[in-house]
Amino acid sequence: MSGLAVGVDIGGTRIRTALVERSGRIVKHQSVPTPAALQRHEVMQAVLRSISWMIAQAEELGREVKGIGIGSAGQINADTGIVEFAVDTLPNWQGTPIRPLVRELYEHIPVWVDNDVNALALAEKVYGKGQEYSHFVCLALGTGIGGAIVESGRPVRGCFGGAGEFGHLSVNFEGPRCSCGNYGCLELYASGTSMARLARVELEKAGRLGQAEIDRYSAHELLRDWAAGEEPASIAMTTVIQALATGIASIIHIFNPQVVFIGGGVADAGEALLTPLREETHERTSPKMSEACEILPISLGSRAGVMGAAAQVWTEGGSKSIVNMDGV
Ligand SMILES: [Zn+2]
Repeated sequence: MSGLAVGVDIGGTRIRTALVERSGRIVKHQSVPTPAALQRHEVMQAVLRSISWMIAQAEELGREVKGIGIGSAGQINADTGIVEFAVDTLPNWQGTPIRPLVRELYEHIPVWVDNDVNALALAEKVYGKGQEYSHFVCLALGTGIGGAIVESGRPVRGCFGGAGEFGHLSVNFEGPRCSCGNYGCLELYASGTSMARLARVELEKAGRLGQAEIDRYSAHELLRDWAAGEEPASIAMTTVIQALATGIASIIHIFNPQVVFIGGGVADAGEALLTPLREETHERTSPKMSEACEILPISLGSRAGVMGAAAQVWTEGGSKSIVNMDGV
């Protein structure tokens, strides 16, 4: 029987783990809540428990684990496997030596660690529609905003793993202060958290809902009310789309990509979001660059994170292509 990779996707709300074949087929999948206190030690214990369970499952199946690939929120140094900087989704995560801690338990198994959106981009490149392209970026619109860059078929990480922080691309230099230090960052307008905040302002102006309902109002409800054509939602979404298009236009001008893949929970809005976003981005982008670039949804769905995390094992952290898909 061919070997398996353990893929781990560490996010602010869930830790997803899977046993994945070289072909990308998922043999086992598990999803557990990220410990609510988000303390580094507890999150890491939950990660190690999930990995142990997966390795035991592989043993039961009589299949060898060839490596462990981990994708995590935050700025990750892929050379050391240490969290250089943690984002709001996992606030106590900075400094966590992910790879050294996993290697302490499994010293005979290779371990790869990268940022979760880099893992998503690797899944696209190896198993998804990204196979057709050498130059693309991924923009993950969730609670926060993450990004990843693939240039000439290789991930772009920067000097310690911070490259692709598209959430902190400023789209308004006179905008409000962001936690990163800059002003008017994309994340302040188009993350799930910020979308809900923008919508609440419009709902208060409209005076149609009670304060308790306004306080509970989420990005999910905003997308629902936008689809229903409600005015406060439409005003808020106009701002969201303009901010996104401004950010994407800058990304296109920097990287000249063939595709911008849009993922994350906000992207579940589908064509309702993508159609106006394409139009607005086109308006703001140099014509030749705009013509060369498509804006597409990610192609692999909710399990892309673990598939991409696992794919690090077969591609030496994304630096090699999968040449032989048969056996190991
Ligand atoms: Zn910022």
